[in-house]
Amino acid sequence: MAPLDVVADRIREAHRLTVLSGAGISAASGIPTFRGGDGLWRRVRAETIATPEAFAADPRLVWEWYDWRRQMLLAARPNPAHEVLARWTRSRPGVTLVTQNVDGLLERAGADPIVRLHGSIWHLRCCQPCAAGRDDWRDETAPLATLPPRCPHCGGIARPAVTWFGEPLDLEALDEAAGASRACDVFLAVGTSALVYPAAGLLPHARAHGAVTVEINTETTGASDLVDVALRGKAEEVLAAIDKRLDS
Ligand code: NAD
Repeated sequence: MAPLDVVADRIREAHRLTVLSGAGISAASGIPTFRGGDGLWRRVRAETIATPEAFAADPRLVWEWYDWRRQMLLAARPNPAHEVLARWTRSRPGVTLVTQNVDGLLERAGADPIVRLHGSIWHLRCCQPCAAGRDDWRDETAPLATLPPRCPHCGGIARPAVTWFGEPLDLEALDEAAGASRACDVFLAVGTSALVYPAAGLLPHARAHGAVTVEINTETTGASDLVDVALRGKAEEVLAAIDKRLDS
C-alpha cells in the first residue's frame, strides 16, 4: 500500500489525532520559515533577534522585524495546508491541533480549537506588569503607528506576545499539547524542523506512548529517523491528498 494510503487509513481509524504544525505550512502563503534561506531580514537571523536580550538592547529594531512580518502576514492568505487542518479541527472528532506558528493563518482558515505553543504575533503585552495592562491585547494594525508600540494602560513599552528563543513556553498550552501527544493514536508533525524544544519533544513523547508517528516535510529533519512514516513533500499538497482520501 502507498504511504499516503497508509496514513489516510491510520487517520480514518484513529480515535485521537494530534497534529504539530510548524512554519513550513505557511511557506506556500509566502511566509518565510526561520531556517530557510529566504528567512533573512537585513541579514539578521531570527535566533539573534527574537530574544529577550535583543529586545532589551534595542526594542525598536526588534519591533521593526515584527512589523515587517506583520505587514507580510496581513497581505498573505491561508493555503490548503491551513484549510485542511482547520477543517479537521471542526469536522473530525478527537483532533488536537498544536502549532508553533505565531502567524494566525490557521485561525484565519477557521481552526478551532487550536493550541498555540509560541503565542501570537497579533497579540501584544506590556513589558512592565502594570495594574490594568497585564492581559495581552489584540492589535491587527500593520504597519504599527509607533515603534515600539506602547501599552494603552500605562504608556510603557509593549512587546509581541510570542515566546522568544530562551523563554519558557506557556505552561497551560504545553500541558495540553503533552496530554494530547500521550493520548493520541496518530501523531502528525507537519512543516516543522523538529529542532526547537520543548515542541520537538512531543513526537518522541507520542511515540513512547504508542502512537503511530508521521512526518510531512519537504526535507529530512531530526524527526525523520524516529517516525513510522515520513512523507516527503509540500504540506499544502500532501495534506490535500490525505484529505481527499479521507473523503472517498
Ligand atoms: P523552521 O523554520 O525551523 O522549519 C520549517 C520546516 O518546514 C523545515 O523543516 C522545512 O523543511 C519545512 N518546510 C518548508 N516548506 C515546507 C512545505 N511547503 N511543506 C512542508 N514542509 C516545509 O520552523 P519550526 O519548526 O516551526 O520552528 C521554529 C520556530 O519558528 C517556531 O518557534 C515558530 O514559532 C517560529 N516561526 C513561526 C513562523 C510562522 O508563524 N509562520 C515562521 C517562522 C518561524
